Amino acid sequence: MKIVPVKTPLVARKMFPNYIWNMPTTEKELYLTFDDGPTPIITEWTLDILKQYDAKATFFCIGSNIEKHPEIFKQIVNQGHTIGNHTHHHVKGWKSKTKNYLNDVAKAKSVIDSTSDSKSLFTTPLFRPPYGQIKVRQGKQLTELGYKIIMWDVLSFDWDQNVSEAQCYSNVISKSKEGSIIVFHDSIKASKNMMYALPKMLKHFNDKGYKFRALKF
Ligand SMILES: [Zn+2]
Repeated sequence: MKIVPVKTPLVARKMFPNYIWNMPTTEKELYLTFDDGPTPIITEWTLDILKQYDAKATFFCIGSNIEKHPEIFKQIVNQGHTIGNHTHHHVKGWKSKTKNYLNDVAKAKSVIDSTSDSKSLFTTPLFRPPYGQIKVRQGKQLTELGYKIIMWDVLSFDWDQNVSEAQCYSNVISKSKEGSIIVFHDSIKASKNMMYALPKMLKHFNDKGYKFRALKF
């Protein structure tokens, strides 16, 4: 049985109205997001397939992975995608003291800033909590620091070893609609499902006239 539903329930969105769950649009636009990179080979593969569809996306990077793979991080930026902060050590918010949590976000921020050639990639910094877990106080303080907290309305379940490639694809196809924020992972764990589902979903929605946009505020 799944604990986390593919489609985010309305109650979660109502509890945290200041977080971004999807984009308000009636245009045929989708917002792909990739968490947990940069990862050698997998992130580069992702960038190539996005380019084939002229698709832009948002990468929620782990600070320590940027430190290990700064060249891949720069490729993401140079190809016109946007970057979000996903903490430095992929920290679980519910298990962290707020001070420690904010310090970890700040560490990732300093790596992002020092690794990007351009400081003005976008005006508002984006943040996604690892595991979707964030305490109210942590969210409040990050918002006060100027972060927009980006959640999602569609989970692909690409990381879940009990989900097949076909199920991962059908999760995304059946739930995505105008303005959806869709979660994939450019990680080794998720690669089997993500590398199957992403090209097919890009083709599916591209054929229907959808555009893929990066999150920017
Ligand atoms: Zn993550």
